[in-house]
Amino acid sequence: MTNDEQAQPSSTQHARRSIRVVTLYDDVMNVYADRGNVIALRARAAEHGVDVEVTSVSLGDPLPDDTDLVLIGGGQDREQRRIAEDLAAHGPRLRAWADENVAMLAICGGYQLFGQSYRDGTGAELPGAGVFDVTTVAPGPGWARCIGDVIATAVVPGVGELAGFENHGGRTYLGPGARPFAMVDYGYGNNGDDGTEGAQRNEAIGTYLHGSLLPKNPALLDHLIAAALRHREGPDSEPLASIGAPYAERAHAAAVQVAKRRSRRWSRTS
Ligand code: GLN
Repeated sequence: MTNDEQAQPSSTQHARRSIRVVTLYDDVMNVYADRGNVIALRARAAEHGVDVEVTSVSLGDPLPDDTDLVLIGGGQDREQRRIAEDLAAHGPRLRAWADENVAMLAICGGYQLFGQSYRDGTGAELPGAGVFDVTTVAPGPGWARCIGDVIATAVVPGVGELAGFENHGGRTYLGPGARPFAMVDYGYGNNGDDGTEGAQRNEAIGTYLHGSLLPKNPALLDHLIAAALRHREGPDSEPLASIGAPYAERAHAAAVQVAKRRSRRWSRTS
């Protein structure tokens, strides 16, 4: 485990606020540069005057006693087989954190393993951490993968339209204890069948959207930072002031435009 309390740029030297972030297996689970999410988080948090203290947890490492935000990226079946048991052993702590409103963002292969289980393309049954009441099955050879740009409307208030990119064979189905994170406008989402995208439990979010996701979606980034601050500071935590960051809004608008041009409007696949 590495503790990384870097000196922040001079503009944030007097920051009053800070959040603790755990990144899980970022040396293994980094499809489509999902590690970019932590880079975007640091940059956006600095603009809000919030320090970010990152603890990177990989295979065999213990979790810290507490945190405000957990990030995990995507990975292919091979990488998922490497981490599944180690991650599932952290399940009780991760579920307790989710119940205590720790913010989380689990992407694609990480999202699948934050569910109950994942039956991969070889038929192997991988255990999940059980944060989300979702189950994922890869239908196996001969089935098309769900690939392409996605636009989805977040169910989470204040986050709005999301732009991302998906590439997964696994189809994820929500159990009775899961709510969708978003509804698909373009692309496939959880399974190409029910129009749902991702899952949420309190402040924990699972999604198929790579991007990297956070640089393309500043409203989601602010949502996660605010949730992490509420966990750190309690319910009286001051809301984030809006920051004029036209470059971030432009990045979002460009990603939405590209996705609409290149992708398929959502319609049932079966
Ligand atoms: N291995 C998983 C699938 O294909 C997840 C892939 C990913 O994280 N992009 O379903």
